[in-house]
Amino acid sequence: MKYNDNFNALGESYVFSKLNALVKKKRAQGETIIDLGVGDVRLPLFDVATEKMSTTSLDMAREDTFLGYPPAEGIPTLREKISERYKTEGASVDMDEIFISDGAKGEIGNVLELFGPKANALIVTPCYPAYAEANTLYGNNITFLPTSKENEFRPLPPYRGTFDIIYLCVPNNPTGVTLGKDELEEWVNYALNTGAVIIFDGAYSDFSTDGYPTSIYQIQGAKYCAIEIRSFSKSFGFTGIRCGYTVIPKTLGEYNRLWKRRLGCRFNGVSYITQKGAETFFSSEGQKQAIKRIKYYKTNAEILKIALKKAGFWFVNGNSSPYVFAKCPDNLSSEKFCEKLIDDYKIAATPGNAFGEGGEGYFRLSAFPKREDILAASDILENLKF
Ligand code: PLP
Repeated sequence: MKYNDNFNALGESYVFSKLNALVKKKRAQGETIIDLGVGDVRLPLFDVATEKMSTTSLDMAREDTFLGYPPAEGIPTLREKISERYKTEGASVDMDEIFISDGAKGEIGNVLELFGPKANALIVTPCYPAYAEANTLYGNNITFLPTSKENEFRPLPPYRGTFDIIYLCVPNNPTGVTLGKDELEEWVNYALNTGAVIIFDGAYSDFSTDGYPTSIYQIQGAKYCAIEIRSFSKSFGFTGIRCGYTVIPKTLGEYNRLWKRRLGCRFNGVSYITQKGAETFFSSEGQKQAIKRIKYYKTNAEILKIALKKAGFWFVNGNSSPYVFAKCPDNLSSEKFCEKLIDDYKIAATPGNAFGEGGEGYFRLSAFPKREDILAASDILENLKF
């Protein structure tokens, strides 16, 4: 049998598996563990989305309203709504530059098909592990760009080496750092000067506040050097429904045309039911509910930060993320500290090294759990003694 050797380079996702196994074991032993390691959302879907999905599903049972395959690039009404939304963000994106997907994670790797084998990718560390893993599976060359406490985890172009692909996650998972207009301008200019394509992962862009850019296309020149990937998962609770979108500008070389060609041979579209549900995000009720949901998670993050501050932890400051990224005390390694947190304090956090070497010595707390769990955890965290 023939196997893809790149799986050997990929290895096991051991940090996450180890953590999950430990939480499972503790719970099986009857211990109550507050799990702040989860990146999945906790609030249920809103009626505005579920009602639309229900009626669309019932339409499928009637001969006159039944629909078969959806268009591979997405239904026009949803693409139009996304295009309109970009206008309100101060960006101009035509509907035929927008492609509906089943979420951001797959697209992070799917776009690699545009570049061919052995592409050179620049990936910020710490960062969402899917970038490095997808590039490893494709056999690409990866260069990591470290960020650290010294530069407050704010990535700047390396001005050394040339890359085909640059992944930017804004706001970043796990650090929560969001980049300002000036910083994104530096990245766009760097990409334009070196011929790189930025893959802008805006999975958390709806969490951006204080006038920070929500789209790379708010930056002049970005439509000549950037692909943007966004998702309904975190701000609309669609982690289980699966819907997102990818923008490939027509001004970005041949990539828009190639992507359509790729869809023709690799994709049969996202279900009508899902896309109709996603459309409600753009209704006034959908927006009201999404804002409420984001506020809930961000308040959770603030509660956790207050507790960490009281206990004397250093953490990345910012108000644009459902995560809190903090330094382990006493120079403990990420895994040692997280083990201790579970063993002694019954709180599960994600070890920073799960997000790459740049995360070693840190841990991530998720603000997605329910408020009661956040409050219970913060009571414990603020009294941590190391
Ligand atoms: N991008 C980042 C930075 C994420 O943290 C996640 C999920 O945690 C995703 C993408 C995946 O999003 P989706 O649910 O749309 O696949």
